[in-house]
Amino acid sequence: MEHVATPSWAMFAYLISGVLFILALRGLSSPATSRTGNRFGMIGMTIAVVTTLVTHQIASLPEIVGALAIGGGIGWVTARKIAMTDMPQLVAAFHSLVGLAAVLVGWAAYLNPEAFGIAGPDGVIEAQSRVEMGLGIAIGAITFSGSVIAFLKLAGKMSGAPIMLPGRHVLNLGTIIAILGLVGYFTQDQALWVIATVTALSFIIGFLLIIPIGGADMPVVVSMLNSYSGWAAAAMGFTLHNTAMIITGALVGSSGAILSYIMCKAMNRGFLSVIAGGFGAEASAGGGEAREQRPWKRGSAEDAAYMLGEAEKVIIIPGYGMAVSQAQHALREMGDLLKAKGVEVKYAIHPVAGRMPGHMNVLLAEAQVPYDEVFELEDINSEFATADVAFIIGANDVVNPAAKTDKSSPIYGMPVFDVDKAKQVFFIKRSMGGVGYAGVDNDVFYMDQTLMLLADAKKMVEDINKGLAH
Ligand code: NDP
Repeated sequence: MEHVATPSWAMFAYLISGVLFILALRGLSSPATSRTGNRFGMIGMTIAVVTTLVTHQIASLPEIVGALAIGGGIGWVTARKIAMTDMPQLVAAFHSLVGLAAVLVGWAAYLNPEAFGIAGPDGVIEAQSRVEMGLGIAIGAITFSGSVIAFLKLAGKMSGAPIMLPGRHVLNLGTIIAILGLVGYFTQDQALWVIATVTALSFIIGFLLIIPIGGADMPVVVSMLNSYSGWAAAAMGFTLHNTAMIITGALVGSSGAILSYIMCKAMNRGFLSVIAGGFGAEASAGGGEAREQRPWKRGSAEDAAYMLGEAEKVIIIPGYGMAVSQAQHALREMGDLLKAKGVEVKYAIHPVAGRMPGHMNVLLAEAQVPYDEVFELEDINSEFATADVAFIIGANDVVNPAAKTDKSSPIYGMPVFDVDKAKQVFFIKRSMGGVGYAGVDNDVFYMDQTLMLLADAKKMVEDINKGLAH
């Protein structure tokens, strides 16, 4: 690829696509405008891709179409086949590909600098390009190995518990300093061993940063890797001298960083300690806790239908189990039946409910639950005191009071819904043996006002609906 100055019309086209990407992000900030946002994003991306193809002699048309068909085909099949509950690990897997692409582009530019227009007449790579290349490869490699570990943890192919190495903070800091030092040295000496060591160390640090994170802290990791993948793409944009890529990468990087910050606040974790890795470190490993034998009460669909119908105000708390059983449509129907009886219905969404940011919002939107009935944690938590029923459907960790009281709990410090303030609590899950993601027991099961509705969530709600329809 010959690097030629980008014509001004192309710069203008890239600017337009950049503006469209910003409008896309703006649209995606609310479920009501998210479809329009997505459309802006798609138009922006089409403009950027077409402009790049027209202004660069990258490859022949059949090669490009062939590559698009193979990549697009794999993406299409994967996206169609994937269950909604496997989305988080799919996202992690896709992030790893962005990272790997950055590493490969960086290496391609190193091995063939003339093709990228970054070599002087004597084949020496310009110093500025060496820095871009080194950083691009480093961020890409960190994104790759970090995302692979996140994928393995989210897919349950590797223990979700934090793995602590002794002296890991010193090890991590040392490795990062070594990487930065070597990128600096690379400007003086473009030897193969320098860039190869940067690559190897970056793969290792990505691995080291993610293995100590586990339990309930994985949501932050997912959004953090999303941010890293953006910065990797931006770095690639510098190497390829592509403005659109720099803009897009920076937008993904910064919006991912903002999301990570919001998630950290929601989880009560320090943002800087997240970036340093291993922020769940002080938490106990979670899981495997001896379960107490305590009395609890079992309810039936009929009991629930009766009490829900008599209530004035019901707050529904959906969680991961709703996604597993795909109960959102039956749940929306339940909401409709209750509203028809004059009951006030609200949905309470915890920022880390489910297995990916926005998981519950997406499912409720799919079932056409009105947006104005859906509330965020901080906006609704005070309302449990005035609610007749807290209806917990497949949620667990996000209502666990241990987060407020038990310092040794892996979810300690995370804000949770005050369901204990509601007059009556219904708790849908399949069995008393099952635990939430963090693997800990939940005092809510044993409260006086709690009735356990043990069944698959969709089946239980359908049975409740039959009772309500009478
Ligand atoms: P939890 O994972 O805490 O609990 C899920 C509950 O659903 C369990 O009680 C389970 O019990 C029940 N359940 C599972 N399948 C069904 C079913 N088919 N029918 C009925 N119930 C079912 O979910 P929460 O949403 O409360 O919490 C999310 C957790 O996941 C947090 O710890 C969060 O940190 C973590 N996480 C979140 C991510 C995100 O980005 N949102 C990403 C990664 C992790 P049983 O098995 O007995 O049915």
